[in-house]
Amino acid sequence: MAVRDVEIAVIGAGPVGGTLALALAARGRRVLLVDQADLAPMEDPAFDGRGYAIAAGCQPLLALAGLWDELPFAPCPILDIDVTDGKVGRRPSALKLHFDHRAVGDDAFGWIIEARSIRVALNKRLRAEPNIVLRAPATARITRGAEGADIEVGGETFRVQLVVAAEGRRSPLRVAAGIGVTKLPYKQTAVIFAIAHEKPHNGVALEHFLPGGPFAVLPMTGTAEHPNVSAVVFTERDALAQKLYTMQDGPFMREVQARLGNRLGAVRQVGRRWMHRLEAMYAHRYYDTRLALAGDAAHGVHPIAGQGLNLGLQDVAALVEILEGAEDAGAPALLARYQAARRPVNMAMLLGMDALDRLFSTNFPPVRLARDLGLAAVDRMPRLKKRFMLTAMGR
Ligand SMILES: Cc1cc2nc3c(=O)[nH]c(=O)nc-3n(C[C@H](O)[C@H](O)[C@H](O)COP(=O)(O)OP(=O)(O)OC[C@H]3O[C@@H](n4cnc5c(N)ncnc54)[C@H](O)[C@@H]3O)c2cc1C
Repeated sequence: MAVRDVEIAVIGAGPVGGTLALALAARGRRVLLVDQADLAPMEDPAFDGRGYAIAAGCQPLLALAGLWDELPFAPCPILDIDVTDGKVGRRPSALKLHFDHRAVGDDAFGWIIEARSIRVALNKRLRAEPNIVLRAPATARITRGAEGADIEVGGETFRVQLVVAAEGRRSPLRVAAGIGVTKLPYKQTAVIFAIAHEKPHNGVALEHFLPGGPFAVLPMTGTAEHPNVSAVVFTERDALAQKLYTMQDGPFMREVQARLGNRLGAVRQVGRRWMHRLEAMYAHRYYDTRLALAGDAAHGVHPIAGQGLNLGLQDVAALVEILEGAEDAGAPALLARYQAARRPVNMAMLLGMDALDRLFSTNFPPVRLARDLGLAAVDRMPRLKKRFMLTAMGR
């Protein structure tokens, strides 16, 4: 059996693994990319309603990977962010926090990109890139050793210097390497869907904190049929979220409107609903012999600030930079550098998101008062607000 020579294998062609393969290929690396799933059906033509918030700092990576110009639906810029606090059925507290992108320059905070849009661009680029050998759907058998790793896939064998596990949260490669994880369960589930609304969103994202969990409304690019559209991440305690997920459209929209108020006028659901149980997670190490973890295989954060994919894309940017020009892409010193560059930053984001969720998920009056006063106080601190904004932009 012939041994085919590529330098790096990426296992998992999700947004993190796919972008990594393309960015490495753009830098002249020969990459094997394997996914267990068939990628084409993920381009589901029905409007899918799930949006990724992509921080401004991640745009250059998507451009390097050749994805930015291939997005079939225009990304929607996030110009302002409103953070409010309240109770269901009541108007949000008057003490709110407002972030205006003009306070840090002309650029948007980032963009909301439809999940399907990234998939369409990924599939197109992955098929066209001559430096990438794509095998999907396929199963890889991987044997790692001090000198390299052998990958058997569909009767072919590849010899690589480095394997990157980008297989998402359950990462079989991480498990096989004996890398432990710590999980922080939230007892919260997110119901995700899109809404068409009467009034324009003007590029404003809303993060409305409620005792059951955050209710986020993210601006999306409209269509001829639905000129005003937003993506909603509706987080609630598990049992209530289950009910919401299966509710008839009429009562469900009344629940939505009770949380949203009248800021967007009358709303109705577009497309279907999705449901995700929330859990934060971090891996105890980011590497092993000839193995690096990236994206959700290494970490999972509360989606409270839409940072999950951004952290994965920042892992990708770090790996591409660290591997640039390296003769041995799997050398232990490089993998240690990668871990040092990414793990502390990802942990800080995870703990920050966790603290935010816990702070806002309580109805205890003194805590509510303190946090509302805190929101209003931060709103009057331009330097601190600027810092928050730059962090959200991934800068
Ligand atoms: C409710 C919710 C809302 C979110 N909102 C946002 C947001 O607004 N912004 C944001 O940045 N992030 C958000 N996230 C997080 C984001 O969805 C993830 O961080 C992102 O999808 C991780 O990408 P990934 O490529 O690492 O993993 P995945 O997307 O999980 O992809 C993993 C890939 O690996 C493949 N695979 C799995 N096992 C194997 C195997 N054994 N062999 C080969 N291939 C395999 C899978 O088929 C898949 O293609 C949200 C998450 C949730 C739950």
